[in-house]
Amino acid sequence: MIAIQNNKYYVINDLCQQCGSCVAICNKDAVKYIRDERTGLLNLSIQYDKCINCGLCENICPANKDTSISNIESYCQSKTYYLGHSKELLIRKNASSGGIARTIIIEGLRCGIFDGVYTLIKTDKYPFAEGYFYTKDNIPNYGDISNSIYHSVPLNLDMRRIQKCEKLLIVGTPCQLLSLSQFAKNKCHQLFSLCIFCKQQKNFLSTKFIARLAGIELKSFNTVRSYSYRGNGWPGYCTFDDKKVFWGVAALLPFGQKLWSVPGCDICGNPFGVADISLMDPWNIHKKNDYGSNVVIVHNTYGESILNLLKDYIELTPLSYKEVKSTLMLDDIESKNKLISFYQKRENKLKLQFIGKLDKYQRRILEIICLNIPKMPLMFYRILNKLIFNFRKLI
Ligand SMILES: Cc1cc2nc3c(=O)[nH]c(=O)nc-3n(C[C@H](O)[C@H](O)[C@H](O)COP(=O)(O)OP(=O)(O)OC[C@H]3O[C@@H](n4cnc5c(N)ncnc54)[C@H](O)[C@@H]3O)c2cc1C
Repeated sequence: MIAIQNNKYYVINDLCQQCGSCVAICNKDAVKYIRDERTGLLNLSIQYDKCINCGLCENICPANKDTSISNIESYCQSKTYYLGHSKELLIRKNASSGGIARTIIIEGLRCGIFDGVYTLIKTDKYPFAEGYFYTKDNIPNYGDISNSIYHSVPLNLDMRRIQKCEKLLIVGTPCQLLSLSQFAKNKCHQLFSLCIFCKQQKNFLSTKFIARLAGIELKSFNTVRSYSYRGNGWPGYCTFDDKKVFWGVAALLPFGQKLWSVPGCDICGNPFGVADISLMDPWNIHKKNDYGSNVVIVHNTYGESILNLLKDYIELTPLSYKEVKSTLMLDDIESKNKLISFYQKRENKLKLQFIGKLDKYQRRILEIICLNIPKMPLMFYRILNKLIFNFRKLI
């Protein structure tokens, strides 16, 4: 997070959401980063000999924006929901959930709904993806699109690759989109946005833990070999070379207990993002099977018309709010919102301060335990998960 005090901009790495926007926006090359060798996270700093105090970095930083949702129930009731998937079985099978994100990107470019798309392209070194600008002359193949990458990827580091175009689609997580939309609105006549629903990005230690569950010891992020977090059915597998672990098992502790989250994720209140369409997993309403699906959340008429134009490629079944509610896990979003002020260090109420501290320290202790003990039988992690007290319930 970029903040200002006494007319001087400075970085609070403890609240950084790892989008990379501040580095990309600076015309003077004054925001620098080094990647932390243990966590794989960007450690940002401002070079005061180059900084001209223009404030662009602070202005674009998503961590500075209020993303809290005050009434989650009425927010969610106002949306339109579908259960959906790509009509191509192989795309469904290999994608993160139902392959709708990649279908919108690729078929949207092919059909001329967009003439530019900014999203991730795969790379061969950590974090294994970077921001890339696709056009109708440069349409990716389905296999070129990355599945969900849960360790943080600073998508916006490369946002200057976006070229002027008529109809631009930006694809990213809520924090990435907040800054991207601000940057990209002057690059096009019409801006569309597709949000990858996200409650938390992870640091490398989460990947290391998941790799251990799969039977591989990763020494550092430089030694990560080929991997894929999702795909191969739903909810799919985490694959490291020839070893794999079922996603339901891999996600149990890190995601369920919010371990190894990017610090700035604690102050993000809106996992749906500000977008035309958001995509998420159909937890609790879709059974484990060979082919995935998405829950599709439509925020406005632009979202509705994109889906309508792509109806030859995407199968959609309307879902009522009642049908989708168990997927949304509103309690979790609500309690996260209540703790934002604690993580921003502006909470005065003793009860919230107390719960916040318990939540934070329990996570730290679990992280230490999980990383320092050898791989245990699955039952151990299941029991551990059951024993953990959810302090957030007390809010
Ligand atoms: C960090 C993260 C956390 C998530 N948390 C949840 C959750 O708590 N609950 C839930 O229901 N769903 C969550 N999701 C969304 C879910 O995993 C799927 O990404 C979503 O359902 C879209 O599936 P798909 O098959 O349509 O995507 P695909 O067709 O497989 O396409 C994936 C798209 O996501 C983009 N992408 C992948 N990783 C990243 C990244 N790190 N940053 C930016 N863009 C990325 C790719 O470039 C591609 O455009 C999360 C995703 C991410 C990346």
